[in-house]
Formats: sequence, structure tokens, C-alpha cells
Amino acid sequence: MSFDNLGLEPRLLEAVAAMGYTSPTPIQSAAIPVILEGRDVVGCAQTGTGKTAAFVLPMLQRIPAKPGGPRALVVTPTRELAVQIEGVAAEVSKRTRHRVAVVYGGVGYEPQIKALKRGVDLLVATPGRLLDLMERKSASLSNVEILVLDEADRMLDMGFWPQVRKIIAAVPRERQNLLFSATMSTEVLRVVSSTLADPVRIEVAPATTPIEAIEQRVYPVGTQQKAQLLVHLIRENELDRVIVFTRTKHRADRVAKVLHQNGIKSAAIHGDRSQSQRQGALDSLKAGRCRVLVATDVMARGIDIDDVSHVVNYDLPNTAEDYVHRIGRTARAGKSGTAVSLLAPEEHEMLRDIEVKIGSVLDCHDADGFSYVDHRLVPSAERTAKRQTRTVFSSSRGRGRRR
Ligand code: AMP
Repeated sequence: MSFDNLGLEPRLLEAVAAMGYTSPTPIQSAAIPVILEGRDVVGCAQTGTGKTAAFVLPMLQRIPAKPGGPRALVVTPTRELAVQIEGVAAEVSKRTRHRVAVVYGGVGYEPQIKALKRGVDLLVATPGRLLDLMERKSASLSNVEILVLDEADRMLDMGFWPQVRKIIAAVPRERQNLLFSATMSTEVLRVVSSTLADPVRIEVAPATTPIEAIEQRVYPVGTQQKAQLLVHLIRENELDRVIVFTRTKHRADRVAKVLHQNGIKSAAIHGDRSQSQRQGALDSLKAGRCRVLVATDVMARGIDIDDVSHVVNYDLPNTAEDYVHRIGRTARAGKSGTAVSLLAPEEHEMLRDIEVKIGSVLDCHDADGFSYVDHRLVPSAERTAKRQTRTVFSSSRGRGRRR
């Protein structure tokens, strides 16, 4: 499959080549022609599938570069996602000459107001800041022709829907709608049916099917030993582009501190850190100045860092969906990766739920000197039945045991 047959004009194809993409991802092959036709689209796709380019490329082909915009609006839940989308759009715009701007909260208004005044063809925004700017009469949406709601499920989860509805009410009725969501809950479907006109539904890799390229490992460990095990795994395997997920902000800070104390350069990234601290942490991992980024789930979606070799669930997430989103930070764009989960005794039930939802039993591994043999829970009947014939555990050192 090549980009040549999707209906993209030469200048867009040049942009694709400049970004180093040689063939379209499944969501790009499916979505680009349909978006170019002007149809509404519901895309069920996780980040890491190439969905950003899947909407940015055709959108910039459809809207003119001229005063009176924005003609395209992308609403997305987090600042990080907004910055990433703007990055792709800015890259493409080098060829198309569109003006692209991004607005998000947590930073000053002035530069954003100035950018809007200068004129914008494509605007990327988080909901709260966009509404603020509309109320200050700095942003007008009356000429929007294409509206993208990115990570719709996340926006619902994060309680942004009242703001998103106000934004929808402020854009012209006659428009093209593109909605992307990693999951299609009934709530999302309700939104879809009231907002979209006869949408084409495109689905790639349902959220509960982990990307095949990811090797998933579980290390049983006592709660108190998690930090030492993490240090051990990073050192032993010489890991240098790792994202570690913790349950709380406090734990993220603590883990980052322990790593530092053990000579492993790391940075924490969560909702309590300022925008510049968050961006600084992302940049330092990208640039190789630090080896480990410790994050909470707010950051799990959409972090676009190439070549993350390992994702570590320091704490298991509460839902299988979050598990899939977290581990999806590795093995992006066709690369392979490893997801490691540190499993404390009290997290067994969560692991079981995840395994039921993803439809496979994850392999357990021993790390030298770490286990929670003394605390091991009695396996449930269901679990025992599932694995009665199966010996898991072949760690690279060949030590195995039955879970
Ligand atoms: P996204 O799902 O949009 O966050 O994209 C995930 C990653 O895939 C980003 O790093 C993109 O640069 C990369 N990517 C997107 N489309 C392609 C493609 N056709 N070929 C190779 N990499 C791509």
C-alpha cells in the first residue's frame, strides 16, 4: 500500500515524504480517502496507530489557506496531545502554507491571543482554554468547516464534555465532523449519534487487544520491594528509554526520587507539574538526557515519543483499557517493545481482570532475589483451571515456576 493512491495532492505527498513515512498505516489508508470526500468519520483507534496524520493530512488538503479562519478545529483532552497534533500539522503546513496555532491551559494568554489575531487556518485546542478565549472574544469559531474531536472517550472521562458541547454549539451546523476515540463506550456512541451525520465508521485494533508487537511480562514482587526491583530491572537490562506508570502523583514523585538516588536519570510528569516542567521532562527523554519518565495515567494517552523500549506498570492500572493505553506507549509505528508489570500480592485481582479483558494470560517472570512467595495469594479456581496445563515462566535466565 502506498500513499499515492489515497487522493492526496502532490504537496501533501511531499509532506508525507518529508516526515519519513513510506507507507500508510491502516487507519490512514482507511480514513484519508473518506475524509477527502467530506464524509463524517468515527475512528476507533488508539494513539500509536498514526491517527494524527490520518486526520491532519486530508484536513489540510480540504481547507483553504486564507484569512477568516480557523476553518479546521481539533479539540483534544491534554496539552501534550495538543502540542503533538500541532507539531504534525506544522510540519505538513510547511508545504501547504497553512497557519497553525495551538491553545491550551496552564500558560499565559497573550501569546495565544496574538497568534489568533495574526490569523489561523487550523486551530488545535484543549476545551477549557478554548472556551476562555471564546469568552474573551479572542477566538471565533463561526467559520469552522471541519471539527475534530480527538480522544473523545478521554474527554468524557476527564469531565470535559460540558465544555465540548459548548464548543460544538459555537461551530456552524454545516460542517464535517471527525471523531476519534480509543474505545466506543455507550456514552461515546450517544455523543456520536447526536453530533455526527451518517458517519463512516473505521476501526483499527480494538482497545482491549494489545498490540501484538509488545512483549508483556509480569514480575511478582512485594509492595515494599517495587522500587528496588525497578532499579534492578533498569540496571540489569540497561534500559534507557522507559516510561514508568504509577497510580498517584505522589508515587510518581517518589519513584523518580528513588531512581535519582540510584544514579538513574529520571523525571516525573503528572497533573501537578507545570506545563513547562511536563514539556521539559518529555523533551529530556526524547533527547536522551534522562532515561526514565515516571508518569500517572493522565499522561498515558498520546505521549508521542519514538523508541520507548519499555513501559513499566509500577502499579497496575484500574482498568484493562488503561493497561492497553499505557503499554501502547511502546511498540509504536511498527516497532517492538516490552511492557513490564510489577505485581504486588494485592494487585492479583486487577491482573485477573486485565487478563480476562485482553483474552490472554500474561507470563510471569522471576527477577533474581525478588518475589512475593511468602505472600502469594491462593489462586482462584478460575485461574487455576485456565492454566492447569500451562507452566508459565521462562525468564531469560531459565528459572521458572508455576503461578
Ligand atoms: P499517532 O497515532 O498519530 O500518535 O502516531 C504515532 C506515531 O507513528 C508517530 O510517531 C508518528 O510519527 C508515526 N507515524 C504516523 N504515521 C506513520 C506512517 N505512515 N509511517 C510511519 N510512522 C508513522
